[in-house]
Amino acid sequence: MSRRIGILGGTFDPIHQGHVDLGLAAEKALDLARLFVIPTHVSPHRSESFASTFHRFAMVALAVSGRPGWRASDLELREDAPSFTFATLRRFHERGYTPTEMFFVIGADAFVEVDSWKEYPSILDAAHFAVVSRSGYSVEELPRRLPGLSSRMVGPPLDESAASGPVIILINAPTADVSSTAIRRLRAEGRPITGLVDPGVQQHIEQHGLYTSKLPDRRGPDGSPEPAAGRLHGQG
Ligand code: ATP
Repeated sequence: MSRRIGILGGTFDPIHQGHVDLGLAAEKALDLARLFVIPTHVSPHRSESFASTFHRFAMVALAVSGRPGWRASDLELREDAPSFTFATLRRFHERGYTPTEMFFVIGADAFVEVDSWKEYPSILDAAHFAVVSRSGYSVEELPRRLPGLSSRMVGPPLDESAASGPVIILINAPTADVSSTAIRRLRAEGRPITGLVDPGVQQHIEQHGLYTSKLPDRRGPDGSPEPAAGRLHGQG
């Protein structure tokens, strides 16, 4: 049985169909035995109208349920502070996975910035990178956008006898043209998000009123903070 694992990190605020398509494209192209979906820490200075860490994890758990081999992982959230990707990859090495068994799954929009990452370029030796097209960011552009890395770029399926170490696999598969930002905006405008997120995730967002509150600390008419119901709106 394949020992290959995929690692898909993101803020997932919320997890949406584009993320699912990204994971499915990598799983199919690379015959992955497992896909770990790992929510990352986000800055505590972000707007309070975004979802809490607990809700982000819950939504990832709902999105992976019913998908054999997919796992929601709290590996990064258990840390006190944001983890760099190289540290997460090292955790998997400590668990016994070799770099050539690991595939860091990422959209082409995010991968073009890899040269600004901590531990670049050695991070590229810590795992294969499986890069998937995103609307407006085709992987076909990558050899031109990142010429210094073009010699490491290959197409699927991966020929393990030809590659001596980790490579960058370009997967040109269609993924839903959606972003978490667009979903938050639709919710703030009171518009539907049906089809853009998994049905279980949609139900969670609606049940908890996520992404609808702009100012959770707004004050009552006499200037005093609104009671609990006001604070809970959009966050409970
Ligand atoms: P935001 O709108 O809040 O910036 P996002 O929708 O871009 O969020 P992230 O959680 O930041 O989502 O993305 C995590 C990973 O998923 C990144 O590698 C990103 O490139 C990829 N990704 C996100 N949306 C898509 C999509 N629609 N198609 C393909 N890849 C995607």
